[in-house]
Amino acid sequence: MEQQQLNYDVVVVGKGNAALCAALAARDQGARVAILEAASEDESGGNSRFAGGVMRFAFHNLDELRRVIDITPQEEAEADFGTNTTDEFYDDLFRLTKFKTDPELSELLVTGSLDIMVWLRSKGVRFIANYGRQSALVNGKRRFFGRMPVEVSGGGSGLVEFLDKAAQKAGIDIHYATPARSLVTDGERVVGVRATQRGKPMVFNARSVVLACGGFEANPEMRTRYLGPGWELAKVRGSRFNQGAGIRMALDIGAASHGNWSGAHATGWDLNAPPYGDLTVGDQFQKHSYIFGLLVNADGKRFVDEGLDFHSFTYAKYGGEVLKQPGQFAWQVFDSKVTKLLRSEYRIKMMTKVSANTLEELATKLEGVNPEQFLKTVREYNAGVRDDIPFEHTVKDGKRTEGVEPPKSNWAQKLDSPPFDAYATTCGITFTFGGLRIDPANGQVLDTTHQHIPGLYCAGEMVGGLFYFNYPSGTGLVSGAVFGKLAGENAGRAAVA
Ligand SMILES: Cc1cc2nc3c(=O)[nH]c(=O)nc-3n(C[C@H](O)[C@H](O)[C@H](O)COP(=O)(O)OP(=O)(O)OC[C@H]3O[C@@H](n4cnc5c(N)ncnc54)[C@H](O)[C@@H]3O)c2cc1C
Repeated sequence: MEQQQLNYDVVVVGKGNAALCAALAARDQGARVAILEAASEDESGGNSRFAGGVMRFAFHNLDELRRVIDITPQEEAEADFGTNTTDEFYDDLFRLTKFKTDPELSELLVTGSLDIMVWLRSKGVRFIANYGRQSALVNGKRRFFGRMPVEVSGGGSGLVEFLDKAAQKAGIDIHYATPARSLVTDGERVVGVRATQRGKPMVFNARSVVLACGGFEANPEMRTRYLGPGWELAKVRGSRFNQGAGIRMALDIGAASHGNWSGAHATGWDLNAPPYGDLTVGDQFQKHSYIFGLLVNADGKRFVDEGLDFHSFTYAKYGGEVLKQPGQFAWQVFDSKVTKLLRSEYRIKMMTKVSANTLEELATKLEGVNPEQFLKTVREYNAGVRDDIPFEHTVKDGKRTEGVEPPKSNWAQKLDSPPFDAYATTCGITFTFGGLRIDPANGQVLDTTHQHIPGLYCAGEMVGGLFYFNYPSGTGLVSGAVFGKLAGENAGRAAVA
């Protein structure tokens, strides 16, 4: 049977944020561009479509922020947007990755982050101030915290929609339900992609190929192999299509691996959420307000410092801590003092939640938890809380415990004001950290001897080397755009040269 062949200058594999940015940038170079997306149109858009849509970029003042969002004079008077200087962005990235982040990749990310937001805006993406998730009224002034005052209008699905419109306008062909299977080489360079479309094999010939088809987070076999035993039991927060196919295709032709292959971004996620993300719920199965409560495991014990830092700087590693607990679950417990501080995801219908008027009653309702030990844990914790330090939720307030193991370093208030609410969580994996080694100069994939693989580029989650152990929230979409544009621009330029 003769295979159908289609010819393009640039073929981009995937249709998430990184792929769409790569496709648009390649098109801007005058290349004829195709996108191959494994999912149907309904399910397309990858993890990007599930994302909350917060974006972390460097800005030093309001004038720089104004390049990304409109700020009215009234907003300027009433809000303190803070800053995220390049130094602050570097500090967060270095501290969280224990200084392992690839210096060249992180420099590109941090120094290119403002310009990429402006570029996205020029492509029709609309950004707004992140009032809902990352700000609070303090003494009559709205204060943004966590160094991330901007989100995409409509969240991650809004972002994909804006970029999709731009791609259609630019005349980029999108082939849905067309999973890429392998790379075509002529012995020297990559010259295309083998894919299937409705079960039929096809070849997409191209002068340059950009792989932007996600990590291996949705593949239990690869998770177990690389992240370790137990990771097959995690739920997947986003797309079921990110099976590591792109990484494997590239390794098969000699690409170099790079980064933290045993590491992943994983968060607390509703215990009874479906195995993969649900686009109607988006990111709302997450439970990120644990900083104001206690996390207890099946033994009735605490196991992390819930108040170590703002959730932005701990949530991506605490999912993995939950996975290590007996039964792979943890209850988040709060009293009524903090109910009003809980994020919107604590008010959805699809949640595993129990409430009680006494701690003793709550102990009987925490399914799977040793009730006596739970009560002992709370007594010991309450006794350790420093009453003399005031609680202030918009800063790291230093209100901590003493003599309690593990400590709670900030926002430690006694659990003593009924009613009590508790939410059952497990580990939800977001994306994997390990990936391919690219040349930071042009986004081209390197082989195991660190030579360029001619014709092959990569972007997004597939780029290894940026994140180790942990991750500052809002960085995935920005890095996808920075490296997507870099790869697309160079792939396009090389294809039309
Ligand atoms: C619930 C959730 C909330 C998040 N919130 C945020 C946030 O607020 N801010 C932030 O910055 N980041 C957030 N992230 C992380 C962010 O979404 C990702 O880092 C980013 O979207 C990855 O972009 P990508 O383009 O590399 O991958 P994806 O967007 O996952 O795109 C990969 C694409 O490749 C396709 N594909 C896979 N295999 C193949 C194949 N063989 N052939 C063809 N196509 C294939 C997939 O269908 C998909 O379209 C969140 C993630 C999740 C899951």
